[in-house]
Amino acid sequence: MQAKKTSAKSRVEALGNDNYLLRCTISGALRQKLDRLGELLGIATTAAGMVELIERAVDATLKLKDPARPRQQRKAPTPAPAPAPASAPVQQPQRSRAIPAAIKRQVFARAGYCCQFISNNGVACRQRTYLEIDHIHPFSRGGSHHIENLRVLCRGHNQRHAERDFGLDFMQRKHRRNHSKTSAAG
Ligand SMILES: [Zn+2]
Repeated sequence: MQAKKTSAKSRVEALGNDNYLLRCTISGALRQKLDRLGELLGIATTAAGMVELIERAVDATLKLKDPARPRQQRKAPTPAPAPAPASAPVQQPQRSRAIPAAIKRQVFARAGYCCQFISNNGVACRQRTYLEIDHIHPFSRGGSHHIENLRVLCRGHNQRHAERDFGLDFMQRKHRRNHSKTSAAG
């Protein structure tokens, strides 16, 4: 990786009160990435929004990469501390709720980065913001992180779906095909 030359206009200037003025040129590609991140996080790419996006991106990267952070905050499913009495019954390995990043990427890519909800009259939601990954067979009922058990829903549709799962278990399979109205999208 080679450092790009900074534009003559780039500068970082201390303004006092722990504030800095950052002035720099960004590429169209970076602009697109910021726009996409803004879409995903629901943050408009105004100047103020960009600052928030940069902070979120930095935080996320630090969370993953910074060895100074507490371990549990980095990825890795933490195994349950073994109580280990002599007569310990079956020790089941704790299932991690966290979907592996590689799987997430596949699920989002397969969905075209939009909500996959389709109403029973065939209208696709296709919202591109506030997207979440939904377990078709709920995780809490033993559903796996296998890609075939996952799909992308906007927050609104994911919540509605969850309500049903936990209200009426047996509806789960049925309403995948026979979902009721989608009027109040996302
Ligand atoms: Zn939706």
